[in-house]
Amino acid sequence: MTNLNIAVVGGGVVGYTVARLLQQELRNVNLTLIADLFGEDTTSCVAAGIFRPGPSFAGPNKQITKQWIDDSWYFFEDIVKSSEAAQAGVMRLSAYIFSKQNYHTTRNHLIEDIVPVYRPVEKDELKICGEGWKYGSYYETLKIECDKYLPWTEGIIKQNGAKIIQRKVDSLASLTEYDLVLNCTGMGAKYLCNDTDLVAIRGQVIKVRAPWLKYSVYGDYDTYVIPGFNGLATLGGVRQYDSYNMNVCKHDAAAIFERCCELVPSLKDAEIIGHRVGLRPHRVPVRLEPELVGGVKVVHCYGHGGYGVMCAPGTAITAVQIATEVLRTNFKSKM
Ligand SMILES: Cc1cc2nc3c(=O)[nH]c(=O)nc-3n(C[C@H](O)[C@H](O)[C@H](O)COP(=O)(O)OP(=O)(O)OC[C@H]3O[C@@H](n4cnc5c(N)ncnc54)[C@H](O)[C@@H]3O)c2cc1C
Repeated sequence: MTNLNIAVVGGGVVGYTVARLLQQELRNVNLTLIADLFGEDTTSCVAAGIFRPGPSFAGPNKQITKQWIDDSWYFFEDIVKSSEAAQAGVMRLSAYIFSKQNYHTTRNHLIEDIVPVYRPVEKDELKICGEGWKYGSYYETLKIECDKYLPWTEGIIKQNGAKIIQRKVDSLASLTEYDLVLNCTGMGAKYLCNDTDLVAIRGQVIKVRAPWLKYSVYGDYDTYVIPGFNGLATLGGVRQYDSYNMNVCKHDAAAIFERCCELVPSLKDAEIIGHRVGLRPHRVPVRLEPELVGGVKVVHCYGHGGYGVMCAPGTAITAVQIATEVLRTNFKSKM
């Protein structure tokens, strides 16, 4: 029996996770991962990677959305319980979310039933971030740092025989040497698939050294402070719809720093390591479907918006199921 040649296009969290799960599911496969950008040049490495979905993350229906979130949670739970957690960049994280105006922003119906703790804050806790907070929740979640998770996953897929190629793909139809192509190109799919439903939501963050921070805090206006490995923390943020500017904006940076210092005053003493910009690939729903592109069998898996780090595994499981079905039926059955 000859091996199948499968390509995964995309070197972000979605591409690497799909590649790993494909190798687990299909044994007789020569897998090639192709991308023009890797590591810290991907959107995945801009993200803080907190496991906290928002209402703009959507599958084709509520049940599938919830399935993706739950499957992702259990995937990362398995890693965090293992001896490889730190190497893989997965950690447990305690988090507060406060609001001065809106009770509903402090709730999260998508994860309240799976995280170990999700509760309203006590009166005293409302004062943790100064005066005036009316509503708040405390919860325990996970955080995934892609600058560790991507190389860790690359190690696994390479060990299982995957080849990694750095190049830009100009058209999916040109990939005729592969029996199947998984399209995990994030924002790149806007151009590769001429997908006008895929829209950037620009984000900007500040990476600081603040080893004294022990929990994450969210406030109003997309203000957040998320500690991570090695005493580093991510301060955010902005959500600018349909904005494609990849340059650091000094006005955004100043506003983010001021808002975060209001929330956590000790940040005034934090050393600033750098400023990062990324474009969240927002699409409703996330695109997970097969397509025959100029004779090449393609399974699309992109459009995770601001939740691609946390939801990559759940969507990858579905992408692999679709891929298996495409190979089995050769596009002859209605999927
Ligand atoms: C500021 C900010 C904060 C965020 N915070 C969180 C968070 O806390 N939690 C969370 O879950 N998510 C968060 N996100 C969202 C998350 O980063 C994205 O959803 C996720 O990174 C998308 O992953 P991806 O693999 O689809 O895309 P990417 O990481 O962008 O990877 C795409 C890959 O495809 C390749 N590619 C594209 N086009 C081509 C082509 N034509 N040829 C070859 N290769 C190509 C690229 O080179 C790259 O390797 C945040 C995003 C931002 C910007």
